Amino acid sequence: MDNGQRTMDNEEEKKGKRNALPQTSSLFHSPLSIVNSPLTNSCPICGGNGWVVNTEGKTEQARRCQCFMEKYRQRLWEKSGVPKNFRNCRLSNYDVYKTDKNKRTVDNDLSIPKEICANFANKYPVIEQGLLLMGTIGVGKTHLAVGIIAELTLNKGVPCLFYDFRDLLKTIQSSYDPRSQISETSVLEPVVNAEVLVLDELGARKVTDWMLDMLTHIINKRYNDKRITIITTNYVDNPLQKEEESLTDRVGYRIRSRLCEMCVELQIKGKDYREGKKSKFNFNF
Ligand SMILES: [Zn+2]
Repeated sequence: MDNGQRTMDNEEEKKGKRNALPQTSSLFHSPLSIVNSPLTNSCPICGGNGWVVNTEGKTEQARRCQCFMEKYRQRLWEKSGVPKNFRNCRLSNYDVYKTDKNKRTVDNDLSIPKEICANFANKYPVIEQGLLLMGTIGVGKTHLAVGIIAELTLNKGVPCLFYDFRDLLKTIQSSYDPRSQISETSVLEPVVNAEVLVLDELGARKVTDWMLDMLTHIINKRYNDKRITIITTNYVDNPLQKEEESLTDRVGYRIRSRLCEMCVELQIKGKDYREGKKSKFNFNF
C-alpha cells in the first residue's frame, strides 16, 4: 500500500501544478491523510482497499478506486471551511430571476456572473486568473464563490479553502498574542498554500498597518506562486455615493492593483447599482 501510494503521488506530481489529485497544501498532504476513516468493505470493485489493479498490458498499473475518490472529494468539501449557513449553495441553485410587475424573468445582471463562475469551474485548472466578485450586499457573491468550491471539490477533487476576511484577521491577530499557542506560520501556511483560496468579504473590516502588511504578504505570495484566489467584496472601485469608501480605501492601493493582475473582475449589480449604472462585465473565460 505504501509503495503504491508513493508511486501514485510521484506520477501525479509529474503532471504538474493544479491537477485533479492532492497538492502539497499543509491541509492536504495526500488522499490518505484526509480519507482517514476505513473505506467501505462492500465495494464490489476494490473489496474495500481503495485500489484497482489493471492487469492488461505488459505491466500492472494501480489506480484509485471510484469509491475512494468519491470519499476523498466529499472530505475535501467538508474540510474546505465553508460555513454551515452556506453549505447548500451551489451554482445550480443561484437565483437569477427578477420579478417585474408580477412577471418573472431572467436577470442578466445575475445570470451572466453565474455563467462566468460556471465556466471558471469547468475550465479549472486551465485558467490563468482567479475571480474578484464585487457588488453590494445581497447579490449572492458568497453563494457563487461557495458554488465554485462545491464544483471544484466534489466534482474535480481540487482542494479549496474558504476564509472569511474578518476571521482571518482575527486569527492572525491571535497568533501575535504571546499567551496563544497558535503560531503565525501555522495560521498563514494553509492560506498561502491553499490550491484555491476563497477570501470572503475583503475589506469588511478596517485594517491596521501591520494587518495590511500581513495581507499583502498573503496576496503577493499567492500571486508569485500562481495560485488561484477568489475574492468577494462589498466594496467597488467607484461607489455611487461620494461618502462611501472604495475597495482601494479599504485595502490600500498595493493590494487593489495586485488584485487587478491576479483576478478577473466581475461586478454583480444590486438593484441600486443597476438603476445607477449600465451593466459592465469584464471577463475572458
Ligand atoms: Zn472501491
